[in-house]
Order: sequence, then structure tokens, then C-alpha cells
Amino acid sequence: MTTAILSALAEEQQGLLDLLRRPQRVTRAGREFWHGELHGQPVVLALSRIGKVAAATTTTTLIEAFGAQRLVFTGVAGGVGPGVQVGDVVVATEFVQHDMDASPLFPRYQIPLYDRERFACDAPLSAMLLGASRAGLSRLNGQFDSKSVLGERSVHQGLIASGDRFVSAAAEARALHAALSDAGHPPLAVEMEGAAVAQVCHDYGIPFAAVRTISDRADDTAHVDFPQFVRDVASRYALAIIDEFVRGLSTSGRR
Ligand code: SAH
Repeated sequence: MTTAILSALAEEQQGLLDLLRRPQRVTRAGREFWHGELHGQPVVLALSRIGKVAAATTTTTLIEAFGAQRLVFTGVAGGVGPGVQVGDVVVATEFVQHDMDASPLFPRYQIPLYDRERFACDAPLSAMLLGASRAGLSRLNGQFDSKSVLGERSVHQGLIASGDRFVSAAAEARALHAALSDAGHPPLAVEMEGAAVAQVCHDYGIPFAAVRTISDRADDTAHVDFPQFVRDVASRYALAIIDEFVRGLSTSGRR
């Protein structure tokens, strides 16, 4: 059973590429895909690229051209929920598109013709990813001195909002959180791809799980925090979490 591992950023994929056995590079849809094995599991690695449409194309290609039968996503996100801090990790339960608005034809946030606002992640796969996230973070504990910068790290589980916008103003983050909360969709984090990947996986009936490391608070310093955080912290988190996750697939016999 081929597992697709989607990374949002090249820094997050590099560690996985280094571990990939029997790597084979294939170009499709103007993108690079890497076939191979991780801990004996057949995998295909890809960069999602940025934004909903780009991520949807990558996901469709993974399923149609590479036969991916389950999909796991790692990336970074802005924390918008109360208590969701830089350095925390959010495992998604569901996704909503914060920029979807076909009102008054359809209710705000509803995806036209799907009759729903949210797409759910696969519960068993997400439970495995949650376990892998906890194990990965505790493995990293002590490996590098992040505590002074990041304080205590928490692993959250909940709704993530996606949209084609890098949210980098405190007022905007507050407004986005308030509007979604008023509509019954209070998000923990905001990013730019997850809801698109979730929708494509829903269309194909493919199990999907996603984890995001919080790189910023989607506020006025988001763009400052971001590059350094990805380089120094998120790339190591992504590698440790996916390494634990794939080991888990092997030992649980979920081939
Ligand atoms: N500097 C990067 C571009 C990053 S775009 C480059 O040059 O390649 C931001 C990425 O991080 C997207 O993948 C998005 O999903 C996520 N993200 C992190 N913080 C975010 C925020 N505050 N708002 C929206 N997306 C965010």
C-alpha cells in the first residue's frame, strides 16, 4: 500500500529524502515526485506547493499517477486558537476554507455542491499521526535547546482553516477567528493548503491525515518568525514525526 507524504516546504522534505531507500525521481504536472521506501514501506514524497489549487493538483497527481492509497501532510501554520503557541503542533481533525464565500447562493464557508463546510480527516490515520507527533516531539526533547525560545510545547487536535492568504496581521487573525467561530467553526490554526488536500482525498475516498507545526501567530511579526523557524525547528519536527509515523505503519502491519 503506497503512502504519499506531502510536505509544504522543501526544508521539511529534505530529511525524508535523505532517508529514502531506492529513490526514483519522476516529474509530472511540472512537479517532482520521489518514489522509494522508508522503513520498508512504499512511499511517494512530494512538495504540495503553496496555495489550495497547487496543493489540489499535487494531491490529484499523487492519487491518479502514483496510486497513493493514503496521504499524510506535514507543514507549518499560524496559530489563531487561544493557547496555540509557536512551537506547538496541531494534528487536524477537520478542515474549513476560510476564504470560501458563495453567499447568498450558499451559506458562508459552504463548499458549493458538497453541502458541507468541513472535510474530516481519517480518524484512525489521524490517531496514528497524533501518537507519532507526541513520540517525535519527546524524541527531540533534549536534542536541541528549543525550550528557551519556545517554552513548553503542546500537541493540539482540532479544526484547521485554509485559504489563499498568508495571514500576517493580528487584527486580521482575530477577525478571521471571530467570523469562523460565529459560524460554528472555531479554528486552531490557519494555513494555505490543507482544506484542498482534504477535499481531493474526500473525492477519491482516500484516508488523509495532517500535522502542522505552529511557526507564527498569524500576527504582525508572522513574516519575521517564519523563515528562521522553518529552518531551525519545523524541519526537524516534520522529520521526527514522519519517521515515527512510518515506523508505526511498519510495526502495526498497516502495509
Ligand atoms: N517562504 C516560503 C513561503 C511560505 S508561504 C517560500 O518562499 O517558499 C507560507 C506557508 O506556511 C504555506 O505553506 C502556509 O500553509 C503556511 N503558513 C504558515 N503560517 C501561515 C500564516 N500565518 N498564514 C497562512 N499560511 C501560513
